[in-house]
Amino acid sequence: MNPRILARYPFLSEAKEYIMREAPPLDKLLLDPLYYDIREKGFSRVLNALEEGRVPAAVLLDDDAIMDEILSYPLARMLVSSLKDPFLVARYSLAEAKSASSNLERESLEFQIGMARDIGIESAFDRKYLPPDIEKKMEDADISDESDVVMDFVDYLKSSSSFNSSDWKMVNRELVHGYIALPGRTMIRLIEEKIRKRLLDELPLPVNRTITIALESMTNEIKLKTEEMKDRFREEDMGEFSAERFPPCVSHLISQIQANINLSHEARFFMASFLFHLGLDMAKVIAIFSQSPDFDPSLAGYQLEHIRGDISGTKYTPPSCGTLKTNGICYKPDGLCRKDWMTHPLTYYRIKGKSVDSSEKTRKTNESSEKTITGAKERI
Ligand code: SF4
Repeated sequence: MNPRILARYPFLSEAKEYIMREAPPLDKLLLDPLYYDIREKGFSRVLNALEEGRVPAAVLLDDDAIMDEILSYPLARMLVSSLKDPFLVARYSLAEAKSASSNLERESLEFQIGMARDIGIESAFDRKYLPPDIEKKMEDADISDESDVVMDFVDYLKSSSSFNSSDWKMVNRELVHGYIALPGRTMIRLIEEKIRKRLLDELPLPVNRTITIALESMTNEIKLKTEEMKDRFREEDMGEFSAERFPPCVSHLISQIQANINLSHEARFFMASFLFHLGLDMAKVIAIFSQSPDFDPSLAGYQLEHIRGDISGTKYTPPSCGTLKTNGICYKPDGLCRKDWMTHPLTYYRIKGKSVDSSEKTRKTNESSEKTITGAKERI
């Protein structure tokens, strides 16, 4: 494959071969002034991923620029691996995947399908190469002309398993004779997700002391930036956690879990995103869910990390009262729920906090006035 292409997609298997063949010895790559530009490019790759959610666009003027670009990729992976921070790994993996997907949009369908196969969607192919009898069935089934890519439904299911939106459900896809037909741009989204997951699985790589020491000044800077970014993503301050402030829907779901009743997928998503938003840590949220009869620790751990944003960097906000009502999760709304402006369970929690705080203050004021009156009476 043309190295110019590998520079745009350095995670491809052919790029690995290129790196093995062309890269200088590791100590030179890390320390030799000759390779300074590659180290700087690797560093910007990680910083841009953190701050912008993208890796910088490659400027490939000549062969040297192409080689620098390709080698900046393993360098960036060493930097990310040196810190072993799951947040950084997630941001970096997402940024590489997003950048690859926007480059892919400008490629031919043939190239996109080749990429899909390289990344693990092996059954993807151009619809025009379908056997005539199946193409006929597609036409009879009125499959849209926009659906120019076809793939085996098992590949589709595996590749789309982490998407929650109903658009990705099989019932909303065009299925004929075991094949899913979809537009090229939808396949690019699947490729993006495959790349992200592959990088997440691969990182952090084991790094030795030579690497850690050589890259120390860069990793120190990346570490500071990572903490800054984490602060930006940190949950809104909801005050001290208190179950007394839960809206009726949340209290009801907790009592269902305690009664060993399985919650629907939507209810579990709501509960998890709500509890994370209040600042509960993973151990506490798992402890709550562990009382469910269908609790599976490894699956629940993965799903919860996804909702908390550890995997994709996207932290999910709990749904509004409107959505909860539509999904049958709203339960016995009380006086506060019935206020015109009450549209979200987090608003309920925030407002209830204020009323709990003020009734607590009133109780304390009453107690202290009672003591004053009693003391005064005793003195009389
Ligand atoms: S109105 Fe909103 S906060 Fe109240 S129970 Fe329904 S969903 Fe929950």
